[in-house]
Amino acid sequence: MSCRLPERIAATFLLASLALPALAQHPETLSWCDTLAQRLRSVEAESCRKLGLEPGNMRSVQGRPLMIRDVPAAPLKLSALKTNTGKPVQQRPARIFVIGGIHGDELTSVSIVFRWMDWLGEAEARQYHWRIAPLSNPDGLLARPSRRTNGNGVDLNRNFPTPDWFADALPYWKQRTKEDPRRFPGTKPMSEPETRWLHQEIERFKPDVIVSIHAPYGILDYDGPAQEPRRFGRLNLNRLGVYPGSLGNFGGVHKNIPVITIELPNATAMPAPKEQRQIWDDMLAWIKKHIVPQTLS
Ligand SMILES: [Zn+2]
Repeated sequence: MSCRLPERIAATFLLASLALPALAQHPETLSWCDTLAQRLRSVEAESCRKLGLEPGNMRSVQGRPLMIRDVPAAPLKLSALKTNTGKPVQQRPARIFVIGGIHGDELTSVSIVFRWMDWLGEAEARQYHWRIAPLSNPDGLLARPSRRTNGNGVDLNRNFPTPDWFADALPYWKQRTKEDPRRFPGTKPMSEPETRWLHQEIERFKPDVIVSIHAPYGILDYDGPAQEPRRFGRLNLNRLGVYPGSLGNFGGVHKNIPVITIELPNATAMPAPKEQRQIWDDMLAWIKKHIVPQTLS
């Protein structure tokens, strides 16, 4: 039996309201996804638009939005632990900040974040609160050809405010890199909007672990207080060293936040699907073992 008119209208409104999240997308998200899909074969515009990415509150040097996605954890079951007064211990889920594309010519460091975002709905991942910046240097990636540095020619991964910056960053660049333009740290720490934005997100989100993705060294690097990871997929721990102004130095050494640096083996060709998955599974296993949820008082 067909439903009466008021019920049909109500059903129409219900369907319309269910569809709202898709309609309410920021227009910049749509054009950002289109632009990225044209540049990266592994990113589909249509699925990118559905991910819930939004422009952050700052822009790149050339005015592009810096996109971010926040994925809260599934509600935690009340802990079996009890306080002295018999109340269940309240915990907040561990927070994970994933940063892709800080070097614009490392295309796979953006593509793999899109693979991982497809898996955030799985039970293992839903234990955590995720914040994801898939492309933190859009001007570098979208330049023709793509380049490591941002729109001002600064290596963002040498522009973080480490305490040694003024003493070491420029001398290191001049003497050790022979003024390599790909490694210019800027004229002062946080001179670049992209660095200021990432720094702001770290201060706001207060992550328990930062995962920063690069290529093409095919290793795992680590800075920070927790037990170091030994192996994700085929990537073995191999410390590259600590650089003035790097994110690992800033986050891991000075902010005491574990920083995992994943160096994929190739900047333009993705690891095989099985290896993409193995890196993810090993990373989640390490986080589960070594990053404990914060207890709320
Ligand atoms: Zn890199």
